[in-house]
Amino acid sequence: MNAFTPEEFLISTDPATGLQVGRVPVTSVDELDGIVARGWKAFNESGWKSLLPHRRAAVLRAIADGLAAEKESLAQLQMRDNGKPIGECRGMVDSAVGTFLYYASVCETLETDVTPARGDYVSFTVLEPYGVVAAITPWNSPIMNDATKVAPALAAGNAVLLKPSEDSPLLAPELLRIALAAGLPEGLLQVVQGRGATVGAALVAHPGVRMVSFTGGTHSGQAIGKVAGERLIPVALELGGKSPHVVFADANIEHAVAAVVAGIFGSAGQSCVAGSRLFIEQSIYQDVLERVVQRARELRVAAPDAPGVEMGPLASFHHRERVIRFVDRARSEGGRVLCGGAIPDGADYSKGAYYLPTVIDGLGPEALSCQEEAFGPVLVVLPFRDEADLIAQGNGTAFGLACGIWTESFKRAWRIGRALEAGSVWINTYKQSVTSTPFGGFKSSGIGREKGIDGLRLYAQVKSLYFGLHENPLAVAK
Ligand code: NAD
Repeated sequence: MNAFTPEEFLISTDPATGLQVGRVPVTSVDELDGIVARGWKAFNESGWKSLLPHRRAAVLRAIADGLAAEKESLAQLQMRDNGKPIGECRGMVDSAVGTFLYYASVCETLETDVTPARGDYVSFTVLEPYGVVAAITPWNSPIMNDATKVAPALAAGNAVLLKPSEDSPLLAPELLRIALAAGLPEGLLQVVQGRGATVGAALVAHPGVRMVSFTGGTHSGQAIGKVAGERLIPVALELGGKSPHVVFADANIEHAVAAVVAGIFGSAGQSCVAGSRLFIEQSIYQDVLERVVQRARELRVAAPDAPGVEMGPLASFHHRERVIRFVDRARSEGGRVLCGGAIPDGADYSKGAYYLPTVIDGLGPEALSCQEEAFGPVLVVLPFRDEADLIAQGNGTAFGLACGIWTESFKRAWRIGRALEAGSVWINTYKQSVTSTPFGGFKSSGIGREKGIDGLRLYAQVKSLYFGLHENPLAVAK
């Protein structure tokens, strides 16, 4: 639970203990003019945008080395800032390291096009940075989400204003410190701290910001998209999900159940790609449901650094209140809470924002609990009759971020994988994510693709050049 003090500091509180972890000064809206101007000065005067790509890549690699050298302390800080189990936090620092290394490689190997000419000239494309871009990130995986935006934006030659969530403000200043120590010129990366509705909104509206890359909730994404539309600046939106996880009767049930449980209760469900709607083929519905409930009951809910922890607390006390309200509404809609649906008992849990893994069935696909994101450890379970019924139900929300399919039939996996509206489809696996593969959403889950080569192109604009070769320079192409 984080809050503003009267002195305008953001206080980070450990959701496992309720104790204060650290505080950072809030950026006032009035400071933005100076920050944006510093970004433009660095962009125009540091030489970064015209540095040869392999030299920019060397700085990105040095940032990766700096992150790797501090892996344990960064993971510990993220664990205390947002309560994720320490193993997951270590994995997220590894992911950030891998992202900087990957974009270092892309930076120095990315080719542009020589385009087919229709006259006596040579035509080709180059990529130009936008200038000063804003990167706005959520609280669930700070170091990983920050790297996913900052590394490609810098690789493309931009200056970046990074605004982390007010609920997890501690990692972005560490990334900045490490980047400067690695040789990134001053001003190319700056951190803006504060609430989304105030300083975040002012950043998006600032005339000196030429592009916005946002990860967060769908409502915030809509607000940002509206402003970006009015300003006619490009915007990349990575938003929420209500991802279907599907188990067919011919699946390897043991593997499927393990993946379903990990897919929703990993990160305590606070993952945009959490498989939060489980669809089970009617003939095996009861059997699979019972196994999932059994496994959910057995999960070890504990402090994020406890041995064998499988689920830590939620990221903040106020977020737990949201999850409690979500489950209360599911009950009022007629849902049967088969396990969880409560704060765990016991002294170990009394100081933290803990909530039990929760499985709910008995709801129709139209229920709000099956339509809206809980962003917590809450799984709704629905039966399906056949492929047509599954596709109708699976596509029956506003979201389209991800889905998982368990079947031994290759042909069925292909049919369903193509028919479900989702940016990422996992077949007989779940939640695999690599920096080299594009990631993003269909429908209200987002616009644009991060990661992969597309992830760098997001932060660059294509320029076409023509070099005339004809003796008469204005010879008309036919
Ligand atoms: P949020 O939308 O409340 O906030 C995200 C960030 O945007 C924060 O930094 C916040 O301060 C800022 N913000 C909010 N409103 C803003 C505005 N009008 N203008 C500018 N900035 C604004 O989201 P959250 O609660 O921090 O994160 C949870 C959400 O993020 C979930 O919906 C989850 O699915 C989504 N998410 C998506 C992905 C993805 O890659 N698709 C990854 C992680 C999280």
